[in-house]
Amino acid sequence: MSGGNWNWQDVPHGTIAWSASAREVETGLWRSVRPVLDTGKCVSCLRCWVQCPDSSVRTENAKVLGIDMFFCKGCGVCAAVCPTGAISMLPESEFQRGGGQGKEGE
Ligand code: SF4
Ligand code: SF4
Repeated sequence: MSGGNWNWQDVPHGTIAWSASAREVETGLWRSVRPVLDTGKCVSCLRCWVQCPDSSVRTENAKVLGIDMFFCKGCGVCAAVCPTGAISMLPESEFQRGGGQGKEGE
């Protein structure tokens, strides 16, 4: 390495601890707001499922069941793309902290 001119060969190794490690990293701990689903308003368009960057929207038979709070970072993309307002983003402080998983977002 020299000065500020780094290239990819200069990046230190070891940024991935082990294979498939993302499954075990509780990214939900970063969340300050959480999505809450109103199933009565959901029309099963699955836009939230497609757009969620963390694959946190749980579905079965093309219906949204809820949000996986272990991984959900609370980015709000699901609420932003929902055409019916079925997802509300609420402050995490309104929910009991329980290792990040807590209450399902439904
Ligand atoms: S807030 Fe919505 S889009 Fe963002 S990570 Fe959670 S479920 Fe996915
Ligand atoms: S985007 Fe809204 S209406 Fe569509 S599946 Fe998700 S919660 Fe339901």
